[in-house]
Amino acid sequence: MVEITYTAPDEEAMVALGAKLAGALRGGLTVYLNGDLGMGKTTLARGIVQASGHEGAVKSPTYTLVEPYELEGLTIYHFDLYRLGSAEELEFMGIRDYFGSHSLALLEWPERGQGILPPGDLVITIERQGLGRSVTIYAATSAGVDVLSDLGGDGSNPN
Ligand code: ADP
Ligand code: MG
Repeated sequence: MVEITYTAPDEEAMVALGAKLAGALRGGLTVYLNGDLGMGKTTLARGIVQASGHEGAVKSPTYTLVEPYELEGLTIYHFDLYRLGSAEELEFMGIRDYFGSHSLALLEWPERGQGILPPGDLVITIERQGLGRSVTIYAATSAGVDVLSDLGGDGSNPN
């Protein structure tokens, strides 16, 4: 199984899906969050970050490009590269330091860092579905496939 699609009818369901995902995510993984502006990428990231133990707010790192969350045994780096000038800017940020076995990277607009970012283990695509959203999680590496099997989907009806 390399792909699962979930339905998130509202914001609350999106946060809950993030929490479900958090149970299967671990350090060393790179997660791409794809979808147009306003699709719910930051909302999903918030669900992941808060379920991983962060108690405060999760703001969009639109202007800071990256927001770190230092949790027990894991640091989550939440990126939003929408305003990145060029992929090379990531080199100046010391991008490699953000990817390690104790770090989980969540990236909005990863295509802006193409060529410099490591490949995504999981590529999540959020699309509009009625008033809600469909969330497709594609496993691009064997580490990503492990996450999908931990999510426990048997392909029949993951909702
Ligand atoms: P993005 O980071 O993709 O630009 P945000 O996470 O900031 O998007 O969310 C934009 C809006 O979409 C918010 O108002 C949020 O409440 C709403 N939203 C998030 N998830 C869903 C969902 N599953 N269904 C409907 N609306 C959602
Ligand atoms: Mg966002």
